Amino acid sequence: MQSSRLRRRFADETALRHTSSERTDPAGQNRRIRSAVARLAHVDPGSVTPLETMRRTTGELPGLRVERYELRSPARDGIRAVLLAPSGPPRPRPAVLVSPGRRAVLEQVTGLKPPDHPDRNIAERLARAGLLTLTVDYGLDGGLPAALLSGRDEAAVLTQAFSLGSQPLLGALVEDALGALGWLRGHPDADPERIGLFGHSLGAAVALHTALLQDGEPLPLCAASHLGSYPLLHGELLSGNPVAMLPGILRHADLPDLYAALCPAPLQVQYGTIDPTLSRQDTESAAEQLRKAYALGSAQHRLEILGLPMGHATDPERATAFFLDALGKNAVRPAVPVPALRLRFDVAARREVTDRVDEALASGTLTLGPQVAEFEARAEPWVGREAVAVSSGSAALEIAFRTIGVAGRTVLVPVNTFFATAAAAVRAGAVVDFVDMELDGLGLDPASLEQALERHPDVAAVAVVHIGGVISPAIHQVTETCRARGIPLVEDAAHAFGSRLDGAPAGTFGSYGAFSLYPTKVLTSAEGGILTTPGPAELDTVRRLRDHGKVAYEAGLHDCPGSNWRMSEVHAAIGLAQLERFDAATRARQALAARYDEHLSGVPGLRRYDVPAGVTANGYKYLAYLPDGVDRATLKARLRTRHGVALAGEVYDTLLCEQPYFTAQGAPPARDFPQARWFAAHHICLPLYPSITPAQQQRTLAALRTELANLC
Ligand SMILES: *Cc1c(COP(=O)(O)O)cnc(C)c1O
Repeated sequence: MQSSRLRRRFADETALRHTSSERTDPAGQNRRIRSAVARLAHVDPGSVTPLETMRRTTGELPGLRVERYELRSPARDGIRAVLLAPSGPPRPRPAVLVSPGRRAVLEQVTGLKPPDHPDRNIAERLARAGLLTLTVDYGLDGGLPAALLSGRDEAAVLTQAFSLGSQPLLGALVEDALGALGWLRGHPDADPERIGLFGHSLGAAVALHTALLQDGEPLPLCAASHLGSYPLLHGELLSGNPVAMLPGILRHADLPDLYAALCPAPLQVQYGTIDPTLSRQDTESAAEQLRKAYALGSAQHRLEILGLPMGHATDPERATAFFLDALGKNAVRPAVPVPALRLRFDVAARREVTDRVDEALASGTLTLGPQVAEFEARAEPWVGREAVAVSSGSAALEIAFRTIGVAGRTVLVPVNTFFATAAAAVRAGAVVDFVDMELDGLGLDPASLEQALERHPDVAAVAVVHIGGVISPAIHQVTETCRARGIPLVEDAAHAFGSRLDGAPAGTFGSYGAFSLYPTKVLTSAEGGILTTPGPAELDTVRRLRDHGKVAYEAGLHDCPGSNWRMSEVHAAIGLAQLERFDAATRARQALAARYDEHLSGVPGLRRYDVPAGVTANGYKYLAYLPDGVDRATLKARLRTRHGVALAGEVYDTLLCEQPYFTAQGAPPARDFPQARWFAAHHICLPLYPSITPAQQQRTLAALRTELANLC
């Protein structure tokens, strides 16, 4: 009765999953499954820190060195662990993280005490075969004081504790296991490139999810006594360990799909044909499903599914053979690629966003509501003036040009900028002309500006752009020139949220400051922008333009055309979560930029761009210059295909005067802008974002060194 009701519930979930998971793109499907696992586990794979050592004692078994540890994770203290190393001088060797079953005793698994079952000492068996093993006791039995437990199940008590932060217990165990992997990689006896995972029963669930959440390619996994379908294990047999699955997972994947998502990593799954916790028929059909899915994923996969004549157990010989092969000399993992940009919202930020979106949905106020107001208030200190949130950076620019009233007149823009700077002026009815840049601060060249002003007596506005997040000290001369002639200056600060010059933030130098919150910028709201204005009168106009020129929020009266340039509550929710973390993210970028500064001299031919004194750049772009004669496109292609390293996009590789839209209107040739032309041809942008690792930075520099030596 009960179970058939459960089955109907599962049928709904499974139907959802099958419509969304047609295996036409197995690699993409596996990525989606791994991403769902990370979300449901509330784990940020890329940012788990290695466990810390609290206590260490050493000992010996015949033929083995024993190190006993108490380790600490951000969530828990006193995680007991045992490292076993084959005796002899320390040397890097393949290593296995062992996750035992729920009721396993650490001392028995590691051979420190005689095992109660012949297969129980799996860690000792692997170590005797020449592998380094780290066995972690997750403390679900015997970790908490009996007096506090007062008869309750320890896992249930821990489940409650973690649910306060809405993390499932499995997520917390996996996070600790990822921390243990990080710890193991740093052990002097471990070869960090050759690490595998073993788990039995609940430990197999921990190991499986840990393998899925590795940053980069999944690790080799041997999983014992954990195969079947979730609906049967948890819905009908009721033999599934409640800790062993992630709440909500069935919408994305059943257990065989999770194993399949490890493809092409080597995988061994053992199950007992007389295991009383499994149904043989269900296990065999899960095995079949897994076999099919793995075969789809890659031609070079290594999958073994072993139905063995045993109960709820492990076959240590088969496990050992698997690891000796999977972690053998030829088994070097491919290096993690270096993407040009990786936008990462950590678990806490995502929870904040979803909660804020939920708040907006529940309230029914979806645009220009309290979250937009909060976003504007919190952005103000960063932009130095009252902030108006709009739908995009281009909207901010267009509103600024419309408020100034540039229609039918000339707007001067730097020849080296994004198309949107000029296009916004064009949409506001202006004719644009271009100004060369200066190479010290990458701003408008004051001499070139003077010449353009001589050419055009009707200039309605001048735009500057803080390229790469650098506010050029030459802006003082530009503001002086504009002030002397009574011409408003528009700062396109799309790159420069949080940048400063002599302490003053971007957005306070011109009459207007326009910021973009597009995802590639340092601060994002998915889509969005911010506009600052010279004073209260303009603030009022700008707010009216943003909302169809409405005279007042409630009134149906409009005194100018305006448009729909509003920011929604959903976008503000994302922006607020970003804003709260902006300071830390900026410091991370700046520290990473300083690392490049320090090591760039090790790349012959590459020249550093030095940010001028007085400038605090936000680290939006890290610029460097190529030697003459090196073709950037060739270099970038080689970095990508030979090293998996992607450089970030240039700022910019094509001057505005060479954009088809402007050449069709007879724009002057690039040779009229010698500095911008040189800059466009010579600069590159190294990958720089808060989640890039120092190792990835080193790989980027090493790849540049190799390829520049070939090309120079
Ligand atoms: C990104 C960007 C814009 C446009 O911002 P959107 O939010 O995409 O409209 C304008 N100018 C520059 C310099 C930019 O980099």
